[in-house]
Amino acid sequence: LRYTGQAEQDAGTERTIMKMKLAEIARVVGATCATGDADSPTVTGVCFDTRQLQPGDLFIPLNGERDGHSFIPQAAAAGAAATFVAADHAPITTSLPMLVVPDPLTALQQLAQYYLLMKVNPKVVAITGSNGKTTTKDMTAAVLATQYHVVKTPDNYNNEIGVPMTILGMETNTEVLVLEMGMDRSGQLHHMSTLTEPDVAVITMIGEAHIEFFKTRDKIADAKLEITDGLKEDGTFIYNGDEPLLRERATAVPQQQKTFGLDPQNNLFAKDIESFETHTDFSLSKWPDLRFTIPVMGEYNVTNALAAILVGRRFHVKPEAIQSALAHFTITANRTQWLTGDAGEQLLSDVYNANPTAMKLVLRDFAGFPCTGRRIAVIGDMLELGDATAELHAGVADALAPEQIPVVYLYGSAVQALRDRLATTYPAEAVHYYPQDRQADLIADLQRTVRYDDIVLLKASHGLHLENVVDALVAGT
Ligand code: ATP
Ligand code: MG
Repeated sequence: LRYTGQAEQDAGTERTIMKMKLAEIARVVGATCATGDADSPTVTGVCFDTRQLQPGDLFIPLNGERDGHSFIPQAAAAGAAATFVAADHAPITTSLPMLVVPDPLTALQQLAQYYLLMKVNPKVVAITGSNGKTTTKDMTAAVLATQYHVVKTPDNYNNEIGVPMTILGMETNTEVLVLEMGMDRSGQLHHMSTLTEPDVAVITMIGEAHIEFFKTRDKIADAKLEITDGLKEDGTFIYNGDEPLLRERATAVPQQQKTFGLDPQNNLFAKDIESFETHTDFSLSKWPDLRFTIPVMGEYNVTNALAAILVGRRFHVKPEAIQSALAHFTITANRTQWLTGDAGEQLLSDVYNANPTAMKLVLRDFAGFPCTGRRIAVIGDMLELGDATAELHAGVADALAPEQIPVVYLYGSAVQALRDRLATTYPAEAVHYYPQDRQADLIADLQRTVRYDDIVLLKASHGLHLENVVDALVAGT
């Protein structure tokens, strides 16, 4: 892929792309370069997918399903300026200038670090957390764009490849770079943080994502804290203060700190939250005259907004500007969607990922939505929870009460633990269970029973493919 970081405000800003001499790149990554400085070609971008390559790009052969080096001929044909080549690779014949490096991915990261810190040197905001990274990234970028030339991670490119690619796609006049950083192993955030030396490090929350690998939330919190490892001395650590695991660990972080959350002990806390189907309103005791609104549902998005507000204040954005930026921000990948079903019912589709924290939060919001018919929850398995699977599924029962959500459909296998737990709080006929090979029955039963005045929430991990159920309910087939 060739992705350029996404500029938040294009109007009136001239696009000033990267220009680096090949000889300069060779020096940075410790490669030999056949040509001298004077006649060295200029590189104007980097790319690892030849289908997206633009003339002037440096080609980075990465190993995916196929050896990236096998695409060097296509890179040459598409107009690449040069290519990295792994030192231990079998000899390659190409007309392109080759920069031979120990490891192309490491060289990509070194080059990104150089471009970031030595050439462009913007302020860097690094955002991690079990959930809410992309949302917080989009909110933060929108807030900062009221005053600065901002580039943010496009989509969800938050890994060891996405972060350097975002950096190398950034314009030379970027003032603030907002980076989403994801991880599924210890050490990854340490690496990304020390590579980018953030001015602000944000942790949105600690959930149970990747608990299969980490075993405990403590260990997840330890790994998230690594985002402060490269934080500048005069940097700021902004984190969710409602999470005791973060509060405990923050005492070891020497930099300035600000906390957000719903608890009044935080530096910034939200109050008077009102949830609507398509937006959420809240106030801050700090600026009592301003009422904030965000164009997304879910109380959890208020905490994401609080993080963005703290970052905005750190860069001196005025409260009124923050308020209006948040009211209009656009989310890169809004995975929760309102749809109208064939019977006229409202469907809240949230079928692209699920974990216990997000599941319970969505159910709590859903339970409060106005509805003249019935609120129906269709809940599928949450994957990758390891040994804790049964317990965490059963725990979802805390967010389900028959008075608010009278009908529950369960789909998959791990949800059986939830079915068993619900047996104590729900009448037997209100809870319907379907194993994974009976999706057709689930669809047929929903189509038969859902009425025009019902609202239906559908949520599961993507592996359960509840999107098929959503599609069928919308299409009526
Ligand atoms: P990914 O790891 O896939 O990149 P992400 O951390 O970027 O995810 P988002 O894309 O912002 O997260 O949100 C994904 C889902 O996580 C939302 O649809 C919602 O269900 C849930 N979520 C978002 N923010 C929070 C939060 N602060 N607390 C709990 N759950 C949240
Ligand atoms: Mg994301």
